[in-house]
Amino acid sequence: MKLSIVVPCYNEEPVLRETTVRLSAVLNSLVEKRKISSDSFILYVNDGSRDMTWAIIESLHDKNPYVKGLNLAGNVGHQNALMAGLMTAKGYADVLVSIDADLQDDVSVIEEMVDRYKEGYDIVYGVRSSRDSDTFFKKNTALAFYKLMSWLGVKSVYNHADYRLMSRRAVEQLGNYKERNLFLRGIVPLIGYETTSVYYRRSERFAGESKYPLSKMFNFAIDGITSFSVRPLRLIATLGFLFLLCSLVAVVYTLYVYFNGETVAGWASLMLSVWFLGSLILIAIGIVGEYIGKIYLEVKERPRYNIEKFLN
Ligand code: UDP
Ligand code: MG
Repeated sequence: MKLSIVVPCYNEEPVLRETTVRLSAVLNSLVEKRKISSDSFILYVNDGSRDMTWAIIESLHDKNPYVKGLNLAGNVGHQNALMAGLMTAKGYADVLVSIDADLQDDVSVIEEMVDRYKEGYDIVYGVRSSRDSDTFFKKNTALAFYKLMSWLGVKSVYNHADYRLMSRRAVEQLGNYKERNLFLRGIVPLIGYETTSVYYRRSERFAGESKYPLSKMFNFAIDGITSFSVRPLRLIATLGFLFLLCSLVAVVYTLYVYFNGETVAGWASLMLSVWFLGSLILIAIGIVGEYIGKIYLEVKERPRYNIEKFLN
């Protein structure tokens, strides 16, 4: 069984050497235990870094037989870089593990992931058992985000980022999701193969700075929602019907006040128009939204099904 560890890197010059030392140690020990073959490898994907990242990858490749490198022509973002790595590595490996370069994820659970794979799981999620190393703010915004996602009908694994093992066939299937707005942790649960989780403590970044400042994190969250759920569009129509109900109450109230002669001229007609037209407009936008939602789902050209086994 040939294992590939895929690592997207953007300006990771301060951590790459240490990452290589630790990942090589994991590969070495797995090879010694005969759990993986000795031609297993680490694939660094350089995502258009501006520092010496690629030069370091090249020199690591020369010195360390485990290290392979993929240099992207520009910065395409974490998710796309990871996809590039997975799509490239799947031609050379049976099992693929994706992990960040910064050593926040505990590399020692890779062995456990491999064991789970051998038990027959196609996808093994690395899940953080604690968020001690995160700030109060990050912890709570993340929790709120997961809750929101599940309310919107998006399947995702709580406290799991992009540290996971996938079999080659799962990665093959992942490649059938042709969408441009990638939110991998939302797509992977859709693949449908047997999954399980392993748990680890997430630590601080080994060195360097987070490549996900608040603004990027926020955009990522919006992407996660809008790439998976048409529920926000449907909410518009729901809101419209709600306002239609309100407008009925408003009609009764307005007419009552009007016939009691307590109103100034023009108030009643304005009140009625505002409520009634407002709800009609919302309903109309909601109907348009339904169609846009359909178009949006069609253009993604996601696979309709995924075959797990065919007894022929
Ligand atoms: N990354 C990337 N391209 C980008 C931004 C980030 O390939 O445009 C990589 C980065 O090198 C790291 C991983 O994505 O390996 C996760 O980034 P980071 O650790 O900075 O995110 P955080 O853990 O702070 O959310
Ligand atoms: Mg990180």
